[in-house]
Amino acid sequence: MNAFRLEPWDSYNQQTAENVHPKDWVNPEPRGRYNLVVLGAGTAGLVSAIGAAGLGARVALIEKHLMGGDCLNVGCVPSKALIRAARAAAEVRRAREFGVEVPDGVEVDFPAVMERMRRLRARISENDSAERFRHEGVDVFLGTGVFTGRDRIEVGGQTLRFAKAVLATGARAAAPPIPGLEDAGYLTNETVFSLTELPRRLVVIGAGPIGCELSQAFARFGSEVHLLEAKHQILTREDRDAAELVERSLVEDGVRIVSACHIDRVSIGDGEKIVALECGGESREIAADEILVGVGRAPNVEGIGLETAGVAFDPRKGIGVDEQLRTTNPKIYAAGDCCFPYKFTHTADALARIVLQNALFGLPFLKKKTSTLTIPWCTYTDPEIAHVGMYEKDAEAAGIPVRTFIQELSEVDRAVLDGDDGFVKVHVREGSDHILGATIVARHAGEMLTELTLAMTAGLGLETIAGTIHPYPTQAEAIKRVADAYRRSRLTPTAKRWLRKWLAWTR
Ligand SMILES: Cc1cc2nc3c(=O)[nH]c(=O)nc-3n(C[C@H](O)[C@H](O)[C@H](O)COP(=O)(O)OP(=O)(O)OC[C@H]3O[C@@H](n4cnc5c(N)ncnc54)[C@H](O)[C@@H]3O)c2cc1C
Repeated sequence: MNAFRLEPWDSYNQQTAENVHPKDWVNPEPRGRYNLVVLGAGTAGLVSAIGAAGLGARVALIEKHLMGGDCLNVGCVPSKALIRAARAAAEVRRAREFGVEVPDGVEVDFPAVMERMRRLRARISENDSAERFRHEGVDVFLGTGVFTGRDRIEVGGQTLRFAKAVLATGARAAAPPIPGLEDAGYLTNETVFSLTELPRRLVVIGAGPIGCELSQAFARFGSEVHLLEAKHQILTREDRDAAELVERSLVEDGVRIVSACHIDRVSIGDGEKIVALECGGESREIAADEILVGVGRAPNVEGIGLETAGVAFDPRKGIGVDEQLRTTNPKIYAAGDCCFPYKFTHTADALARIVLQNALFGLPFLKKKTSTLTIPWCTYTDPEIAHVGMYEKDAEAAGIPVRTFIQELSEVDRAVLDGDDGFVKVHVREGSDHILGATIVARHAGEMLTELTLAMTAGLGLETIAGTIHPYPTQAEAIKRVADAYRRSRLTPTAKRWLRKWLAWTR
């Protein structure tokens, strides 16, 4: 295995490594005191570093593994490449529904799927390359960074002094405390994208976004997938009606969902892994060739010298930050998965921008706060679930009177023609068009949600959406229909009576 765990060591992975951790890289000589030292070159670190350099700051960026972090190497990029290939297989399987015969059926060439992923990842890795960042004026240090004081950090035997620093060390797959799991061996997001052979039987532990996305993809490739979840519902963060639609689709793809179960232990049998469970008082066993764990993310806070730097942290919640993303050391900020509960690439990007503003420009009236962010997210199953803002239960818990409008996609022409299921659900503050939150279940829910996220960010309400022309036929028309429903709800019985009278009078 190569030092970067980029397996197999083919030309594509070598190209990725050459971009994001060149083997003959020579760290620069430190240039005195830096305006900003960034620890970790995932999304949060890259955005901080390039943004600061662009403003003319003297910036150092430290990365111990692969620039691009989880998203490029073992997260969003490889997972979405697999999901796209899995969708192609699912589309062909459904072809007959559209009058298209595929006489020889579907055969997935898994090694080719993985090779395509590695090829595309290598191409995208150019954006995050060490060379590109050097060209943009960032001093790139490859090595492990450890704080040796409140204003200094050591990497590869060199000490970097800073006026301000950003912790952007990210997170890793949390390991569930299941007896026998460690000995039996398991895959996480750090190793699953190195597979070159399709596991015939796959057990996925944890029905969160990563577990659901990959369960569906592997089932579509032809694995026999069991998806295990301790709770009664998959995607527990989401509304039940939304999660149920995705659950139905996963089941149609062949995923066997085992919910409300407790895993007792994992053992190794005759060349296979045996997962022993208890479900509703009954014991059962599931045999697998591989186990994939996706039970949440643990922040990377150990071995960085945080104690020496005077930065408080919690091993589970991560680095403690205030609304301005300041840690307990006023010189040090944090951004991304290492400090924030919403662990997404776009959040890491948004937080890095807040840090730039707050760390480099001390003026109080210019300070930015995380509480002002409107954060959307999307789980890329088929259909996707995308959400922004409050759920109905959040609004109720906060004592905000809420009114909910729902549009089923079964009544939207484009979705009918596409053969797609789903809905758009928007919550407004009762008596106004002010959008509190929205959930969309649709094939491209993530794309559709942006209209509502923009409206919320800009303070636009459903009235504005109702007055916006949407091209016909699109699935986004469902959002317009929700806005029309809001408009109709404003027509009180008295207004309706007056309207009828007016129309009668003008006949
Ligand atoms: C399978 C999977 C799929 C995902 N899909 C999506 C998606 O579709 N959309 C989305 O928005 N998000 C997705 N995510 C989440 C997304 O990848 C993360 O939220 C994002 O990468 C966080 O960026 P970050 O910069 O905070 O941390 P990371 O990307 O984790 O980067 C942290 C970097 O810090 C480095 N580092 C740590 N300690 C040190 C040290 N002491 N010295 C030097 N370097 C150090 C690490 O090596 C790493 O490169 C996915 C995650 C996974 C696992």
